[in-house]
Amino acid sequence: MRPSFLPRLVNGPFDDPGLFIPLFFEKRAIIFDLGDIYSLSAKDILKISHIFITHTHMDHFIGFDRLLRLFLGRDQHLYMFGPKGFLNNVEGKLAGYSWNLVKNYSNLLALHATEVHPDYLITKDYICQSGFVPDQMTVKHPFNGLLHNEPSLSVFSRILDHSLPCLGFTLDERFHVNILKDGVAELGLEVGPWLKEFKQALFNNQDPDSEFEVAYGKKKQHKKTFVLGDLTKQIALITPGQKISYIADLVYNESNEEKVVELVKDSDHLFIEASFLEKDRDVAEKKCHLTARQAGIIAGKAGVKQVTPFHFSPRYQGQGHLLEKEVMEAYDDVLKQ
Ligand SMILES: [Zn+2]
Ligand SMILES: [Zn+2]
Repeated sequence: MRPSFLPRLVNGPFDDPGLFIPLFFEKRAIIFDLGDIYSLSAKDILKISHIFITHTHMDHFIGFDRLLRLFLGRDQHLYMFGPKGFLNNVEGKLAGYSWNLVKNYSNLLALHATEVHPDYLITKDYICQSGFVPDQMTVKHPFNGLLHNEPSLSVFSRILDHSLPCLGFTLDERFHVNILKDGVAELGLEVGPWLKEFKQALFNNQDPDSEFEVAYGKKKQHKKTFVLGDLTKQIALITPGQKISYIADLVYNESNEEKVVELVKDSDHLFIEASFLEKDRDVAEKKCHLTARQAGIIAGKAGVKQVTPFHFSPRYQGQGHLLEKEVMEAYDDVLKQ
């Protein structure tokens, strides 16, 4: 079965953090953190529609310039989310350039930035043609953990402590639609773009008794109409969706651990920072990072199915396997208990 998305770390574990999540059926992508993103192709970067920033330490946000450079002059809405102070940081970045010529651009590039506070979200818009001058209008919404919602997936967040507010993220796919190719063939149909519309109909909770038209063939010249529920039974298998979590930069304490475990509980795949070895716990504590052992304990307590550590301190160059081993040992220990 082909998953709807296959997340991948943008860089190796010793380089800048970031998780790229392409959504296969939409030619679109989500990214957690924008460190150095030069290892992503321009084509991949241009798929990004939603950007979730844990915090604005340089290694997590320097890629914003590269991203903006590529999107400049294009027709695109970019949705960005970050912790307290984020709007100031975005405005500071934008204020670093001259924008006197952009008013003539014909395409509309709009940034919609949202700052996350414990109980509310503040959103501000920045339009390219207006020189990214912040819109005076700010929109305030209550916040209860749900950061972003669309028919097929949601992104949840918790505010963690990393000597400053830092966001942890979980992406939750509502359910997964597996297309049964044999079922498609049995109905005399061919796979094609109509399958995307079919999935969209399911995610939009379209009435199963309603009609659904399938246009197939090279030029969509063949048309057949089905009852949506009957078609679903014939060609689709609905399975639980994936849960992908991304946790970067936090100090180890009871409150952080509790929040992360709750947020990432039962994830299919957890990406978690593991900056230091347990023997250097005092350094980890000072720098407000996790040790590999602490990362493994959190992964184990949350019962995640797969854990990938990253954001290794450069002091362990050539010893990445030690950090990985420490995470896995702690994870296994917790699971055995
Ligand atoms: Zn940091
Ligand atoms: Zn960092």
